[in-house]
Amino acid sequence: MWEDIDVTVEKVPEGQRKEKPAQESLGFGRHFTDHMFLMKWNRQEGWHDARICPYQKFEFDPAAVVFHYGQAIFEGLKAYKDKDGQVFLFRPQDNFERMNGSAVRMCMPRLPIDKVLKSLKALLYLEREWIPTLEGATLYIRPTMIGVEPFLGVRPSEEYYFYIILSPVGAYYPEGFNPTKIYVSDEHVRAVKGGVGNVKTAGNYAASLYTSEIAKKAGYTQVLWLDACEHKYVEEVGTSNIFFKIGDELITPPLEGSILGGITRNSVLQLAARWGVKTVERDVTIDEVIAASQDGSLEEAFGTGTAAVISPVGELFYQGKPYIINNGETGPLSRRLYDELQAIQAGRAEDPFKWVV
Ligand code: PMP
Repeated sequence: MWEDIDVTVEKVPEGQRKEKPAQESLGFGRHFTDHMFLMKWNRQEGWHDARICPYQKFEFDPAAVVFHYGQAIFEGLKAYKDKDGQVFLFRPQDNFERMNGSAVRMCMPRLPIDKVLKSLKALLYLEREWIPTLEGATLYIRPTMIGVEPFLGVRPSEEYYFYIILSPVGAYYPEGFNPTKIYVSDEHVRAVKGGVGNVKTAGNYAASLYTSEIAKKAGYTQVLWLDACEHKYVEEVGTSNIFFKIGDELITPPLEGSILGGITRNSVLQLAARWGVKTVERDVTIDEVIAASQDGSLEEAFGTGTAAVISPVGELFYQGKPYIINNGETGPLSRRLYDELQAIQAGRAEDPFKWVV
């Protein structure tokens, strides 16, 4: 069982390692490092065969459960490097705890978090040269679990792969921290209460693609999702949680099953409260947001997530009409949260909550 398995290490010989791409043109999720972490699970052995090994292709049976019934969960976090070469992770324990929540909901085995975190640190040490040093660029970490048993009956797989791959990514805002234009969908929905919206499983993302394409074709960056029952309450924006500063309150929808509990969302709530901002987790209707944008009390709106940290919203397009927020400019709270979170994550600022590892 996993409590006592060892992690073996198989390194790519120095001369056969990949050439590292230029840090100025990394983009997102296109380049992968030389090594990965991999372990397997089956009913008899539990987690076993844990290893850090060369980044490699998998071969699976065409009947593997993941290809048919989508038993797949994943996470996203980042590693940062400071000028002295020190490497930082931001709340990694929370990502793996969330992944275990996803595993339970999707009938998949839970991860031994301590062991996985130790293995991730060892992998990052091996790949430290891949962690970008350019301002804003980071190493994106993608832990993934899939059901791989070849079986066409609809029941949980009895075999799993868990792996972690690493991808150097560019600064999210190479042209500056500018507000995005958001398309509010009142036709399609992302998730339902009682469903799997609060877990990070592949099908949620597949289900979002169609509407995202409609939004992109219309010139919008992301979709703002409304609740599945009444198409009335605001839920999330793209792959981010959403916040509104209305009057003196910073409001975000509560976590009631259809929304992913973002680690950035939680960090923003804690940080803003520490600064004396009144933070509120409550239902917020799209009508209230539109009315506030019209009477001027909607001072700022922004998304929160690992990829962009904070992404200010400059325009909402709802039922055929555009609504401009804060003259389409980045507001002071969005800016302050962005600067402070980035500084904490990169080890440049005081870390009052002990988030950085
Ligand atoms: N909602 C969804 C649907 C997401 O995919 C993400 C990204 N993980 C988030 C919100 C933000 O979560 P986090 O702050 O943990 O990145």
